[in-house]
Amino acid sequence: MDIKDYRDLLKKENLRNTKHRNSILEVIEESGQPVTAETIYLKLKEQGVSISLSTVYRVLDTLIGKNLVVKTSVTDENKGLYEINSMEHKHHLLCIKCRKMLSVDGCPLEEYERELEERLGFTIKGHKLEMFGLCDKCKNCDM
Ligand SMILES: [Zn+2]
Ligand SMILES: [Zn+2]
Repeated sequence: MDIKDYRDLLKKENLRNTKHRNSILEVIEESGQPVTAETIYLKLKEQGVSISLSTVYRVLDTLIGKNLVVKTSVTDENKGLYEINSMEHKHHLLCIKCRKMLSVDGCPLEEYERELEERLGFTIKGHKLEMFGLCDKCKNCDM
């Protein structure tokens, strides 16, 4: 293979990578809630995108490295949940029955942080808060 062929191959490879990257970002964005790599993989298959699960994981890692995606949490099966990194501070509600996760904008703790900082002389750099319970659907059916 001469250098030109190699360049072409690399170019093609890059194009495919970019395409995969964009499709994965789209899937995460459209789902509107944190998703697992498997969910992304299945959605892409549905759309006729030829991609392997290991590629999905690899692309996700790249996207996390670029701060475009964040791994917010893990499911009971220890699977990572991925979400678009909106740079906004967010909290999550997790349904313990169907494992659905909702993101809520805004933070109720800002004032509390300030009060703690003042009272304890502690500089707070961040916090995590996750709430769990039953979603609208699960609440209304028998456990
Ligand atoms: Zn639920
Ligand atoms: Zn907060």
